[in-house]
Amino acid sequence: MNNGSEAATIAVDSLGCKLNQAEAELLARQLAEAGYRLVSPDDEADIYVLNTCTVTSLADRKCRHRLRLARRHNPNARLVAIGCLAQRAPQELGRIEGVDLVLGNDHKSRLLQSLSKSGCEATPHADRHPTGQTVSVLRTRTFIKVQEGCSSFCSYCIVPVVRGGEKSSPVDHVLAEVRRQVSAGYKEVVLTGTKIGSYSHNGDGLKGLLEHILADTGVARLRLSSLQPQEITPGLIRLWQDDRLCRHFHLALQSGSDGVLARMRRRYSVGEYERSVSLIRAALPEAAITTDVIVGFPGETESEFQQGYDFCRRMDFARIHVFPYSPRQDTEAAGMPGMVADRIKKRRSQKMLALAEVSAQNFRQQFLGKIMPVLWEKQTDGIWSGLTDNYIKVYVKSDQDLRNRLLPVKLGEVRRDGVWGEMIAPAR
Ligand code: SF4
Repeated sequence: MNNGSEAATIAVDSLGCKLNQAEAELLARQLAEAGYRLVSPDDEADIYVLNTCTVTSLADRKCRHRLRLARRHNPNARLVAIGCLAQRAPQELGRIEGVDLVLGNDHKSRLLQSLSKSGCEATPHADRHPTGQTVSVLRTRTFIKVQEGCSSFCSYCIVPVVRGGEKSSPVDHVLAEVRRQVSAGYKEVVLTGTKIGSYSHNGDGLKGLLEHILADTGVARLRLSSLQPQEITPGLIRLWQDDRLCRHFHLALQSGSDGVLARMRRRYSVGEYERSVSLIRAALPEAAITTDVIVGFPGETESEFQQGYDFCRRMDFARIHVFPYSPRQDTEAAGMPGMVADRIKKRRSQKMLALAEVSAQNFRQQFLGKIMPVLWEKQTDGIWSGLTDNYIKVYVKSDQDLRNRLLPVKLGEVRRDGVWGEMIAPAR
């Protein structure tokens, strides 16, 4: 810890969903405003804060690993765990992992007070970065939380337990936050929440919120983190006539078998999911539709898995995130009969991952030769990378500073996890 004459350095890190990223960004900004000096999670920090995730046992392991790495980086650092794993297993993090301060979702808003009570006070410092710059320690795109919590209780999911019921931010707060981020220089805003399709505030649903943002802010690009298939309506999709809305829809499928979907307590059938995809594609043929799939859910037979696989192949997803089922204590599915053996889950995951790779390549392939605007995010070894609005990662070689600029590029060859592009005009 520093001697009190310099500002304490603090690293804010996050694992899991985009909601966690949004919360980490907000927290970083509040800490900077309170006088802490933000550093990257890869640097040595006096205080290391991790916004944890507990959606799978792999997420738990990653959180513990990240905390141990931070301890190794600076053995004297004060470790702070907040968020979902901190909510579910505070003792484990405190006693076993030696985390100094554990604040679950119920208490994480008290982080600043808790830090100063425990002697980790900020010291005002003259060279404080302006707010917009401090947050860029984390990301180029900015994530804004508009909603939190879920009351759906899908049978496998721990989120309603650790995040609680649904709460939405008032429209005015969201608009003020979007305007603030736009003035700080961000071109892309990603709206996040546990279930943003259930956004509801004073009569405004998600559609109303989007209308307000498009009409009343100068945001250049607006992306939604994820939606449920039953939330796709013709009225909602009509909003995409405004091309500031990114043609990217993350619709979690979880399974392409009606039997499994029913056991998961999802609120749609495979047919309804397909109708939502068709509605999007009829209006926006170049939209990227990405999804999550759980393999090896309790009782999933070989034929149910195969139905799901065939359905995913037919849907031509731009990306498929594959999760082998992992039982979460306090969920209904953890007590279901017919647990699938690990080796079977592994085989099914590999098969689904191979399909995901082919499907992603096929999606990118359609755009070769096209000119599309890309928001450039970062440079590594002279290669810039960024995203199109329909979520294609594009790389170009350039020694110019392209960061946070929205510039057109001609898409060339499919490479690695994206596409190589060629700048069609020199960046000015
Ligand atoms: S909708 Fe289902 S999977 Fe998503 S957070 Fe709610 S309970 Fe979990």
